[in-house]
Amino acid sequence: MKDDNSQANGGEPPSNHRLQSLKEFHSAGRGFWRDVPDADWNNWHWQLKNRITTPEQLQRLMPTLTPEEFAGAKLANHKLALAITPYFFNLIDLMDEHCPIRQQVIPRIEETHTASWEMSDPCGEDSHSPVPGLVHRYPDRVLFLVTDRCAAYCRYCTRSRLVSNATGYDFHPEFDKQIAYIAQHPEIRDVLLSGGDPLLLSDEKLEQLLGRLRAIKHVEFLRIGSRIPTFLPQRITPELCAMLKKFHPLFLSIHSNHPRELTTEVRDALGRLADAGIPLGNQSVLLKHVNDDVTVMKAHVQKLLMCRVKPYYIYQCDLISGSAHLRASVRRGIEIMTQLRGHTTGYAVPQYVIDAPGGGGKVPINPDYVLSHNPDRVVLRNYEGKIFEYPEAADGTPLSSPPKEIEEPQMV
Ligand code: SF4
Repeated sequence: MKDDNSQANGGEPPSNHRLQSLKEFHSAGRGFWRDVPDADWNNWHWQLKNRITTPEQLQRLMPTLTPEEFAGAKLANHKLALAITPYFFNLIDLMDEHCPIRQQVIPRIEETHTASWEMSDPCGEDSHSPVPGLVHRYPDRVLFLVTDRCAAYCRYCTRSRLVSNATGYDFHPEFDKQIAYIAQHPEIRDVLLSGGDPLLLSDEKLEQLLGRLRAIKHVEFLRIGSRIPTFLPQRITPELCAMLKKFHPLFLSIHSNHPRELTTEVRDALGRLADAGIPLGNQSVLLKHVNDDVTVMKAHVQKLLMCRVKPYYIYQCDLISGSAHLRASVRRGIEIMTQLRGHTTGYAVPQYVIDAPGGGGKVPINPDYVLSHNPDRVVLRNYEGKIFEYPEAADGTPLSSPPKEIEEPQMV
């Protein structure tokens, strides 16, 4: 997207005007569903029942559907199902082939193009799964997969081998076995519920599951990973929030990639969760033509804070099969991080990570701020590119001389 003309906004720098405009909150509106009664539109079951799931529906609703998208939609059910809630569909700019919302949920034929280094299980989850639906990758925590269904399907999904069952993975979590494993492993202090989307379970089923996990003495901390707040904010009912608050400490990681996803509906839903005392974090995936842009990313992280959500991770897009057209480069990711750190509130700065291909776990990726480190000193670069020295004795004895700037300021 091009910067706006500064003359059109009273001489304000173009990038600032664009930033402010991306941070405005808007409702998704009703679009094609303007005649649907409020009671239906605001009902999450209605939204799920009325999802767009076929190429023909897409064709009818999107006069600008391209041949690549139509072909992708026709093949989607062999790889990762097509499903978009009416609410989220309304965020698509139908006139813009490169709309960042469109890129995330409308299949393309490029999804069938796979390279030899791409994988169906890029994070090596299946090889770290002691019982079906449980991934024990890190020493003190587990990933508990509760379902293979999502409210809508992200075209870059790391778990596309499993979610939506388009590939015939036939995922059947066995809660009894998963819970028994956790109970038998006292080193597990943190359980992350994910899937698929855990918030697609009914309140009753989710309450039962959280209750069983809470009853295990060594489980200190529960987390839920969910894209429901952005795909289906109608699901975040007062009843759901009242139920979730019984299980503190319970954290929720949402998934949002672009500031336009943060609508007034989403802000209200997140407010209900925050009012229930649930700490909220966001996980984004760095995606080409979606959020691989400093202004977009800055607007997104600042807007997340306005929604009471701490930006938690930016993931480098995993090497999932058929995702090359959506992957931005690591170089781009580092450039974006360089433009966030120090240039905006520290709370707004997420950690950029690569999930090491094949199952190595998350590796933090940072711009180089430590230029050298020897027995006498650490040489540092700050966000403006200025160089500083921090004196440090080899044996850890504090030195008396204060840190000093050692070179002329230099922009990096
Ligand atoms: S919501 Fe999560 S699990 Fe579901 S398709 Fe998107 S990335 Fe995959």
